[in-house]
Amino acid sequence: MYDIAIIGAGINGCSLAFEFTQLNKKVMLFDSESVASGGSGAAGAFISPKFSKSGELKELINDSFVYSMDYYERNFPHLLTKAPLLHIAKDDLESKTLKFYKNITKLKLNDLSTINTENLTTNALNQEQVSLNTGVINAKSVCEAMSKDAKFIKHTVENLIYDDGIWIIDDLYSAKNVIITTGAYEQIIKEPYIELRGVWGHRIDIKTRSENPYSIHQFVSISPSKDGILAIGATHNTHYHPQKTKEPYDFDKGRAELLEKASKTINLDNVEIIKDYTGLRSGSFDYMPIVGNLVMSNETILNCGNKLKVKNADYKKFTYYPNLYMMNGNGGYGFVLAPYLAKILSQHIISNKEISDRISPARFFARWAKKR
Ligand SMILES: Cc1cc2nc3c(=O)[nH]c(=O)nc-3n(C[C@H](O)[C@H](O)[C@H](O)COP(=O)(O)OP(=O)(O)OC[C@H]3O[C@@H](n4cnc5c(N)ncnc54)[C@H](O)[C@@H]3O)c2cc1C
Repeated sequence: MYDIAIIGAGINGCSLAFEFTQLNKKVMLFDSESVASGGSGAAGAFISPKFSKSGELKELINDSFVYSMDYYERNFPHLLTKAPLLHIAKDDLESKTLKFYKNITKLKLNDLSTINTENLTTNALNQEQVSLNTGVINAKSVCEAMSKDAKFIKHTVENLIYDDGIWIIDDLYSAKNVIITTGAYEQIIKEPYIELRGVWGHRIDIKTRSENPYSIHQFVSISPSKDGILAIGATHNTHYHPQKTKEPYDFDKGRAELLEKASKTINLDNVEIIKDYTGLRSGSFDYMPIVGNLVMSNETILNCGNKLKVKNADYKKFTYYPNLYMMNGNGGYGFVLAPYLAKILSQHIISNKEISDRISPARFFARWAKKR
């Protein structure tokens, strides 16, 4: 009997596997393909904060950024490349945001006069910039390292049944707790309030003579170069979905878009594309992640009725699936958020520590139920 079954071996599932195996729990980790075969395998995996004026998402990402930099450095230092980040505004509106951000942030910023601007385009030089010390994590290797003590099972999970205190998975496996971390792919539990949008992304590794010591973010993200290779990502394609779109993804178009966007920021010499990575990232309606115990919508509607139409419904009165949880919707910040969210969810499952309403599935249910 396993303590925990995790369905989906992306950065969310693997961060959870790491938390629980560190606590000596028996963990099963399912994936249809392999570790980091979805969005996580495609990520540039830049660990960076969110440069916006205010808001809950910015606060959450910035807390996660501080936590995750320390976490990767402590647990997987050999997979973390530390490099200064240079964030360059895309337009005048973002310039204003960055100016504001620089005045209010508590993070330690780098002196811009120390940045080597040799390879930057005139467009990039004329925009507002901000720099701080960040890192890039090796996406696939870190997922593999995090999940090494869990039992990996290559299997597409289709059916979950709760029987006598135990979750039965496709009539084949059993566990006391189940956590769903399937990203933007088809959901296993069909609950109407879980509305996750999949956004397709493309990243390329290129060989180039141009040297770049920084993580640069403007229209796309450009990694520091290592042995003449750097990564450029990512595009945001809301029209393509690997499980729904009939036509194949147009790689040539995606590559051209990435190079065109990168060339607005940095001068790249003698470019040769050596590898493509693609995958889906998932986002909720307001981009806040969904972390915690899943609400049973039919039962809650029956039990709470009109009490669900009020502004501040009492989440404690909702009916929840026993020992069934979700961690999803990390958008473009999966590698920043996952370690922090995995800590929060594991403490909830092990010690019943409360999860903030701002990320709990109950918030998403309450919004959906009120609008019904
Ligand atoms: C091109 C690109 C660049 C990105 N760059 C960054 C970046 O620089 N920094 C950053 O922090 N984030 C970045 N992201 C975002 C980040 O990759 C995602 O937020 C993160 O990968 C989401 O992880 P996940 O575990 O939720 O989902 P996924 O990695 O998609 O994992 C879900 C897994 O579930 C499996 N699965 C689905 N259904 C089932 C089933 N029924 N049974 C078994 N297995 C199933 C899938 O095979 C998949 O492996 C980028 C994303 C893309 C696409």
